Amino acid sequence: MADKCSLNCRCGKVAWHIKQGAAGRHVMCYCVDCQCEPRHLGVEDGFLKNGGTQIFQTTPDQFVFDKGQEHLGVMRLSPKGLLRWYTTCCNTPIANTLPTPTMPFVGAVLPIGHDHYGRVSCHANTAAASSKVRQRGVPGAVYSMFWRAAKTALAGNAKVTPFFNDDKTPIVTPTVLTLDQRNTARPDTILR
Ligand SMILES: [Zn+2]
Ligand SMILES: [Zn+2]
Repeated sequence: MADKCSLNCRCGKVAWHIKQGAAGRHVMCYCVDCQCEPRHLGVEDGFLKNGGTQIFQTTPDQFVFDKGQEHLGVMRLSPKGLLRWYTTCCNTPIANTLPTPTMPFVGAVLPIGHDHYGRVSCHANTAAASSKVRQRGVPGAVYSMFWRAAKTALAGNAKVTPFFNDDKTPIVTPTVLTLDQRNTARPDTILR
């Protein structure tokens, strides 16, 4: 079981952690949408490797803000897209959640090379990688994501989340990128 994983934004105003022993999967996601976020924020150097974003997938009840929550922003790449949380003080990606807390899922974004969770066990959506990466571990990661969500919901902890109010609205109103902004943020290697 991993220790508590402490993280902070690049300027230090916002700090958060993932609890000790949090169950989850350490994955790299190479999908176009995950690449758009750090590119839109202008932080691709620290948060993309071969077009991949390093993520620890866990449940929101394991995620805790320690300070600076007033600097939270949240973007959606399209009106139905995931909520992509970041800091407005210095554009540091924090985490991705679904649009509502009903399915307890959070993909905590880690800076590239962060070694708290050891080896990455899943490389997903590698078709959009910027260099050749072998896809692996995806069925296991998907299965464990649903399994964790179900267990958390059964334990009555789906409501325990720092990202949503009691009425299931996000604590910050999401900004939806314009089509122009989204197209500008798209990686060049992708033709669509
Ligand atoms: Zn900051
Ligand atoms: Zn992705």
